[in-house]
Amino acid sequence: MAQHRLLILYTGGTIGMVQAAGDTSLIPFDFSNLIGQLPEISRFRCIIDYHSFSPLLDSSDMDPQNWMQIAKVIKARYDAYDSFIVLHGSDTMAYTASALSFMLEDLGKPVILTGAQLPIGEIRTDAKENLITSIEIASSAPPGLKEVCIYFDYQLMRGNRTHKKSVQRFEAFTSSNYPLLAEARTSIQYYPQNFLEQEDKGLRVQEALSSDIALLKFFPGMKQEFVASVLQTPGLRGVVLESFGAGNLPVRPWLFELFQEAKSKGIVILNITQCEEGTVEMGKYETSRHLAGLGIVSGRDMTTEAAIGKLCWLCGKYSDVEEIRRMAGENLRGEMTN
Ligand code: ASP
Repeated sequence: MAQHRLLILYTGGTIGMVQAAGDTSLIPFDFSNLIGQLPEISRFRCIIDYHSFSPLLDSSDMDPQNWMQIAKVIKARYDAYDSFIVLHGSDTMAYTASALSFMLEDLGKPVILTGAQLPIGEIRTDAKENLITSIEIASSAPPGLKEVCIYFDYQLMRGNRTHKKSVQRFEAFTSSNYPLLAEARTSIQYYPQNFLEQEDKGLRVQEALSSDIALLKFFPGMKQEFVASVLQTPGLRGVVLESFGAGNLPVRPWLFELFQEAKSKGIVILNITQCEEGTVEMGKYETSRHLAGLGIVSGRDMTTEAAIGKLCWLCGKYSDVEEIRRMAGENLRGEMTN
C-alpha cells in the first residue's frame, strides 16, 4: 500500500508563537522552529510536507481572503496528498473551519484544523498533543472521514458545529448541537455514524466569497436607529440574526417595516438562536410567528460561525436571492440538524 501523504499548512496562531524579545507580547515565529520543537513527528510512518503562509497571522487578523488562500492551497495540492492539517489560531478557528466546510465542495479527504492555548515551547503546552494526535487521526482515520474538522483537547469535532467557548481552558471548543466525530483516549475512538456523508466527486472550490454580510445580535431595548443602521447598510446582501430562545424577537411595527424593506432589497436574513444549545422554531411563539412571512430563514441549530461562513459563501456563489434563501435554510454540510 502506498504511504500516506499529509500536508500541514501553518497559518500562524499561538501554537507557533514565542515571546517577543524584550517584551511580553506573543509574536509568530518561523515555521522551521516548530518542526524543531516536535521531534516526535518523525516517528509517524507517513510522508509529511509543510506549507507555511506568509505572513503568519494571528487568527483575529484573518478574513475571507485568508480562508480563500487556505482553500486554494488545498485545491492545488489535493491530488498529491491524502489528508490536510491546518495549524490556526484558536480565536477564529471555528469561523475558518465553518467557511472551509462550504468552500471545499465534494471534499473526499480529511481536513483537520488545530491550534493551541499555550505556545509550543511552553511548559504544560497543549500544542504538542493537539498536533501529534491530529497527525495520527489525519493519517489513520477510517476512510469515511472526509470533512472539515477541528481537533482540540482530545476531541475531534465537525468544524462547522464548533464554537470557541473558553479563553483559558485547554478544552477551548464546544460542539453543543452535534456529537463528536472521535475522541482520543488510550487509543482513538472513532464514531463513524457521526461522519458527514458526501460524494467523492472531485474537489471543487468556489473562488468568490461575499463580505457584504452583517451580524445582528438582539438585546432587550435595542434601538430602531441601530437596527436600521445595520439593515440599511449599502450593498448588504445577507444578515445573520441572533434572536432569543427558539428564534424570538420583540414584536414592534418599526422592526416589521425594516425587515420588509430588507426583503424587498433582496437581503437574505438567517435566524439563529443566541442559546448555545437547541434550535430555532419560528412560529412556536407569537414573537416569531410573523418572521417567516418576512422572508426570514430559520437557521435552526446553526452556530453563528457556521451561519456567517454559509452566507459569505452563498452570496459569493449565487446572485439569485431565492436560490440563496432556499440554500441558506437547507442542511448542506451537516451544519444544521434536519
Ligand atoms: N490570538 C491567537 C490566535 O487566534 C490565539 C490562539 O492561537 O489560540 O491566533
